[in-house]
Amino acid sequence: MIVVFSPRYRIDIGPHVFPTDKYQRVHAHLLETGVIRSADVVEPEPASWADLALVHAAEYLERMRSGAMSPEDVQQLELPWSREMVEGFRLMTGGTIQAALIACGLDPDVGTQRPQSAQSQQSSAGLAGFAFNVVCHIGGGLHHAFPNHGEGFCPFNDVAVAVRVLQARGLERAAIVDLDVHHGNGTAFIFESDPRVFTFSMHQQHNYPMWKPRGSLDIGLPDGAHDAAFLGELGRALPAVMAHRPQCVFYLAGADPYEDDQLGGLRLTKEGLRERDRVVIDAVRREGVPLVIALAGGYARRVEDTVAIHAATIEEASRLQFRRP
Ligand SMILES: [Zn+2]
Repeated sequence: MIVVFSPRYRIDIGPHVFPTDKYQRVHAHLLETGVIRSADVVEPEPASWADLALVHAAEYLERMRSGAMSPEDVQQLELPWSREMVEGFRLMTGGTIQAALIACGLDPDVGTQRPQSAQSQQSSAGLAGFAFNVVCHIGGGLHHAFPNHGEGFCPFNDVAVAVRVLQARGLERAAIVDLDVHHGNGTAFIFESDPRVFTFSMHQQHNYPMWKPRGSLDIGLPDGAHDAAFLGELGRALPAVMAHRPQCVFYLAGADPYEDDQLGGLRLTKEGLRERDRVVIDAVRREGVPLVIALAGGYARRVEDTVAIHAATIEEASRLQFRRP
């Protein structure tokens, strides 16, 4: 199974609750346990500024690029600005784009800036035959980024950019299943008036972000919800997501619904989270469409727990990838 990853996702943001070394730890764990081989790992290219502009406002990108961030910008983003930070997240956004293109069987070397005729030829050739195919990104899920500002450790909305790139290559319908403990506010806002993209977020209702723009389907769970409540709601919601008949599904498999997370107030166990992953992957597999998995948040008191939860997601994907429906 192909995974997308770069060691450059470890970004120096100083002392911070966001452990940017989790990505390389997940990668190392998967290699050690034999879930992936080094030949399975694809190193991404950074998202181009033109790709980022498919979602983000030119003025915001210019401020990110030049470092002309206002104190409010930095406060909302909750990350210190540095060139390394911007380049690291630009690379991570490229990783989600790459994972999406591979999952959909599209050639990553063909840009979006092609003549119309060539582009539509490529689209119909590439997107004609959908099949279940999982590609995991050991990164991404930056769902709090809005077009004109970054928020909550998310400078660029990688999944939204990847959806826009796929749309430019002929994708008609996509779905986003966001099971991070925090509502996918940026993603919901970006696709609010785009009926081609079904946005589903299930999250802790009384948690960041305060303002939760409406997605296609939002389920706000009460504080302290356990495995059974979470899995019950998930089982009822997924048929509605798949009824949209997406041609590609993005799954944000946040590790922060975990019971020992510092920024989350749900009480899922590791086994509950693993079952959550199985249920999502299986629902997509039964529809036979490409699946892109991004890691999203994870702030367990012990970083080993966050790493184990993310690794389990990829392990489940790998197990289900090769099983017949
Ligand atoms: Zn989160």
